[in-house]
Amino acid sequence: MRVVQKFGGTSVGSIERIKKTADIVQAELERGVQVAVVVSAMSGETNRLLALAKEMSEQPKGREMDALLATGEQVSAALLAIELQARGIAAYSYNGGQAGFVTSGDHVRARIKHVEGAHLIAHLEAGEVPVVTGFQGMDEKGNITTLGRGGSDTSAVALAVAVDADVCDIYTDVDGIYTTDPRMVPKAQKMNQISYEEMLEFASLGAKVLQTRSVELAMRFQMPLHLRSSFEPVQGTMVVGEDETMERAAVSGVAYNRDEAKITIMGIPDQPGIAANVFGPIAAAGVNVDVIVQNVSEQGFTDITFTVPRSDYKQTMGIMHMLCEQMQGRVVKGDDGVAKVSVIGVGMRSHAGVAKDMFDVLAKEGVNIQMITTSEIKVTVVIEEKYIELAVRTLHTAFGLDQANS
Ligand code: ADP
Ligand code: ASP
Ligand code: MG
Repeated sequence: MRVVQKFGGTSVGSIERIKKTADIVQAELERGVQVAVVVSAMSGETNRLLALAKEMSEQPKGREMDALLATGEQVSAALLAIELQARGIAAYSYNGGQAGFVTSGDHVRARIKHVEGAHLIAHLEAGEVPVVTGFQGMDEKGNITTLGRGGSDTSAVALAVAVDADVCDIYTDVDGIYTTDPRMVPKAQKMNQISYEEMLEFASLGAKVLQTRSVELAMRFQMPLHLRSSFEPVQGTMVVGEDETMERAAVSGVAYNRDEAKITIMGIPDQPGIAANVFGPIAAAGVNVDVIVQNVSEQGFTDITFTVPRSDYKQTMGIMHMLCEQMQGRVVKGDDGVAKVSVIGVGMRSHAGVAKDMFDVLAKEGVNIQMITTSEIKVTVVIEEKYIELAVRTLHTAFGLDQANS
């Protein structure tokens, strides 16, 4: 049996927590399991480093940001290796590049190209414990790169695939994946199991419990994930392939994301190529556009509304003002006080009317829906941010999620 254990920021947030984490590693080794570890930075550390850089410059260059941010994980990896060694366990800390994580050169949002895992496998076969920094790697020119916020989850899954682990354990500060963020809704229920597909929707729609790309990777390689608590030794939630035989409720969970901003460009000529004209320069700036709505045209003119991450709002507004002038549009409007709430469930494939029920619930609470988007297994609406808690709670209740259903 071979496992990769990933410990998030709170699980390595202090000397005491690192010792608890070492207990978990040790217990697994004593059961005869081969263990490779991936760690995050101590909780709060990545934010602290980001704030330091901001004191130096409004827009620090990506290469230096990565050099700075990667240090957080190095501290926790080294400390955990030191603690394991003090217990007589052969442990070796490695940073991303040393561990063999080869990434693209896109600083601050690099993608893992491959992991050269041979030396890590040699450690595992010798009963030794590699302790690898999450969230980072090295590009082909030897520059340090990082994988985007929450990226240690993706490092862990990539490592699990590279060393052919049986399971990837993600240790965190909750004991499983819940029907919605348990910090916002105390009545949220823990799930025993969730399919990759649903988890992918949860993650990409804002449930920060797992980074989206880690779920994509796990799904592609069918790597089972076990999301569990480093505070309590209880069974967590398994993320696995979809179980066709199970009866499904229409909605299995609610996700939200506050990190949204909405931009509208009005009165632009409605002709072929117009959407490409608008979204080309935004994509070139590396901004991810999310929900898009284009209105029917009136007298040859149209409006396009879309959302972007709030952190990209200012930059995107700048681009839109420039485009508006070029295209002789009427006006650009922006609102960085919006948020997104989604109901998710593979059961929606066989249950009609979920969208309508969702709109009814929100209407009853007086929440105005600004934008709507759907897929086969989710309905998402953009609303004013101040209603987000109300919306998440009432939807959670209305779709019967306040009670355990298994
Ligand atoms: P780590 O530092 O261990 O990576 P994160 O803070 O990234 O931990 O992720 C764990 C947090 O995810 C939880 O504390 C919880 O508030 C949040 N979360 C959001 N949605 C969910 C959900 N559906 N189920 C469980 N946790 C969730
Ligand atoms: N330390 C990084 C972050 O805070 C990566 C991670 O914890 O997954 O985003
Ligand atoms: Mg995380």
